[in-house]
Parts: sequence; C-alpha cells; structure tokens
Amino acid sequence: MMDKAIVVGSGAGGAMCAKELQGRFQVTILEAGREFRPFGANLPLIAKIRKTRLLFDAREIEWIFSAMKIRKAGAGMILVSGRGTGGTTTISTGNALRLDGDLRALGIDLDGEFAELSAEIPVFAGHREKWHPLTRSFFDICREMKLDPQIMPKMGDHARCRSCGRCVLGCPHGIKWDSRQLLNQAQKNGARLLTGHRVERVVHENGRALGVLARHGLRKKWLPADLVILAAGGLGTPLVLQNSGITCEAKLFVDPVLCVAAEMKGSFQNRELPMPFAVQKKGHIISPYFDHLSFFFNRDWRRKPGDIYSLMIKLADENLGSVSRGRVEKTLTAGDRKNLEEAAATCAEMFQRAGADKSRLFFGTLNAGHPGGTLPLTAAQAKSFHDPRLPENLFVADASLFPASLGNPPILTILAMAKRIARICRRDGF
Ligand SMILES: Cc1cc2nc3c(=O)[nH]c(=O)nc-3n(C[C@H](O)[C@H](O)[C@H](O)COP(=O)(O)OP(=O)(O)OC[C@H]3O[C@@H](n4cnc5c(N)ncnc54)[C@H](O)[C@@H]3O)c2cc1C
Ligand code: SF4
Repeated sequence: MMDKAIVVGSGAGGAMCAKELQGRFQVTILEAGREFRPFGANLPLIAKIRKTRLLFDAREIEWIFSAMKIRKAGAGMILVSGRGTGGTTTISTGNALRLDGDLRALGIDLDGEFAELSAEIPVFAGHREKWHPLTRSFFDICREMKLDPQIMPKMGDHARCRSCGRCVLGCPHGIKWDSRQLLNQAQKNGARLLTGHRVERVVHENGRALGVLARHGLRKKWLPADLVILAAGGLGTPLVLQNSGITCEAKLFVDPVLCVAAEMKGSFQNRELPMPFAVQKKGHIISPYFDHLSFFFNRDWRRKPGDIYSLMIKLADENLGSVSRGRVEKTLTAGDRKNLEEAAATCAEMFQRAGADKSRLFFGTLNAGHPGGTLPLTAAQAKSFHDPRLPENLFVADASLFPASLGNPPILTILAMAKRIARICRRDGF
C-alpha cells in the first residue's frame, strides 16, 4: 500500500505539491473553502447596490463572493485572500515573475524548477495591442519619466484574453491560469480532494506528525498521514502551526497596496487586463489597476466604473507583523510610509502628465494580498527546506517560507519552492 500524504490548502503551494506527490504517495488535499466559482454580478449592478448604502464594509464581499476572504489588520488595512479550490491564485491578476533573488542569496538554486514551470504553465506578454489608449499613454509617460516600464508577463492563454477586467473576481472565460489546473492533474492521477475541511492542527509525537485534525461542518475528523504538507497560505499556515504547539516568527509581511485614482471620463480601465505593465522601484512597484474592492466599498469611488483610472502602488513592506490566535497584527512602519509617500508623488506626477487635475486625485482602501514570511527559510535549510521546529515529516510549502517581502507577485516562485519540496519528499520517503 502507498504511503499517505495530506496536503493542507489548494492554492499555489498546495496544488503543486499535490500534483507532484501523487503516485509516490496517496495524496489527500484538505481545503477549507468550497469549489471556486467566479463572481457573477456586473459592475453597473454593483453600482446600483452601492447607492442603497448597504455596501460599507469590505468584509461584506464574502456574502456575495465567498471565494474572497477579507480580514482587518492595523492602520485601517484590509487583508485579501482566496478561500476555495485554487486558493488565492483564482483571484490573482495572473502576473508571472521569477523572484528568487533572496533565496539564491541563501544558497538555493531553483533553476531546474523554473525550467520545468516554463514548460508546464503558458506565459504570455504579447497583450499590448489590447490596451486602451489611456494605458498606452501612461506607458509612454513612464518612459518619458525614465521609469523603465516593463510589460507584465501573464500566466494563461492571454492571446485569447477578452479584456473584461475581471481577473480578481475569477476569470469567467477560462483564460487565466490558476492552481486548479494542478489540482485537476493531481485528481486525474488519483489524489482525493476534500473541500469544506478546515485543518485545526497537526498531531505530532516524538518528532513525527501522525496526522491532522480537521473540521468539516460541525464534525471533527481525524486523518492519519505518513507525510503532512502545510500550504494554507501566509495567514493560514502560522495559525495551524500555533494550534499544533509550534511557534512561528513575528516576521509577517503582506505587500500593502494603495491605489491612487483620478476621474478620467471614458477610460474604461474596468474593462481591461489589470496590471498590464509595471514600474519597478526600490521598495515598491507601480502598475495600472482598477481596484474592485475600493469601487465596491470606498465612498470616494462612487463614480461610474468606466470613468475611473487608477494606479496601484504595491510596497515591499518591512517584515514586522504576526498572526496570533487568528488575529493579524500588522501596521505600516515609518519606512513603509515614506516609501508609500514617494510612490504616491510619482503617481501624482504621472496623472498630471496624463492631463488629470493633481488636486482632485483620490485614494483606494489600503489593502494587502501577499502575506508570508512567518517561517522564513535560512541558509541552514537551503538543502532540506525543513525548519527544525517542525516534526521530520511535516513540511511547509507556501509563502510563509519567504525570507522577506518581494513587493511583487509571488506565485511563480512559490510554485518553484513547492516543486523542490515535493522532490525532497519523493526522494526521502517518510
Ligand atoms: C487580489 C490579488 C491579486 C493577486 N495577483 C497576483 C498575481 O497576479 N501574481 C502573483 O504571483 N500573485 C498574485 N497574488 C498573490 C498570490 O495569489 C498569493 O500570494 C499566492 O496564491 C499564495 O500562495 P499560497 O500557496 O501561499 O496560499 P494560497 O494560494 O492563499 O492558498 C491557501 C489555501 O489554503 C486554504 N486554507 C487556509 N487555511 C486552511 C486550513 N486551516 N485548512 C485547510 N485549508 C486552509 C485557503 O482556503 C486557500 O485555498 C494576488 C493576491 C491577491 C489577493
Ligand atoms: S481580463 Fe478577463 S478574460 Fe482576460 S484574463 Fe482577466 S478575467 Fe480573463
């Protein structure tokens, strides 16, 4: 009989491990959320509902779109993550960047894994011809300002992208890649996927994990395992570890996002591929992005969706924060605020050059969607990918492993790390 592996979470890290381990192990994937479905309602309908003033707290999004989970952190910041098959990858904008510089500095070489990924996941950067005129103008303005804008490579079949602008609500046209494709492969090869199963803790004894305790509705379930892979995401994994008596580090980063917007009539950014290009600066990136959450819940965004143009600032924040008993402690440091102010000034300059009135710019809601860093890899773990705090047959395979914030899209790099971890587990058994 095959050894049993349990994979907790079906996002980037979990789905990759499940796909790579099935066959060598009999894999069961435990996912807290349900099967993912894209958000159905259109923006004009949401605009009507906004008028009733029923939409005032971003956490309400879960009532109408259960795959998106919102938590509150400090300083008015909200944390956005995916819950359901595919994890947060289903609500991503599909950006595909290789960002393993910090890992390489620890002595971790993932060249082989990235090469395999490029054969497995289609990446497309030829979408420029589909951009709206204003986006083209912003690209040219960035060049004039010597900001070196780069077209964003996208995971999926974006040659067929319909520019509907709904990536973060789940692609309704099956264009964007998400980790459900890996889940499907794992299931075809015999893996079992159990949705609605929230893992509460890993049970371990004498340095070995024996299995996990999960909650399914009102029932508690015991699932024994020879190998446990924890990939519940940057906020889920530290909570499960804490419940299991294993303390993580107060090094949480989240990549805070603030959008700077202007009313620009007929720009229709809401019907365009989000983040078509990005400017990379030290400590932040800037990229065109229609912020759906601000459009739904932020009073300043009560305008027609087609008349709003917005630039996203994404920060590489200092890794000072924690997840404790389900509470997330995270605020912006003085350094983060300075970085944000610099980026906002650059955005204001860009808007001015595009013809917008600088004094009438408005902001989105401060949010963040790239949590991680609470079980950071070290040089000593470069070969094993295993933290000595963990039982020998328990691995973490998600964004929790990053040594520091990337301030940039992490999916591709998480997939590469998960591939390596699966390789180690296949080799060593357990
Ligand atoms: C709006 C938005 C857009 C983004 N766009 C991009 C992008 O374009 N490119 C990019 O690279 N990154 C993007 N990201 C970030 C990226 O999606 C995440 O960083 C990445 O998916 C994290 O992978 P993960 O494996 O750590 O966790 P996740 O993908 O978050 O998966 C964790 C899974 O575990 C499940 N889970 C949690 N707790 C439990 C539990 N106790 N038991 C069982 N299951 C549990 C969750 O329901 C979830 O399905 C975006 C994020 C957001 C919010
Ligand atoms: S813009 Fe629309 S069609 Fe294109 S990838 Fe995003 S959701 Fe899919």
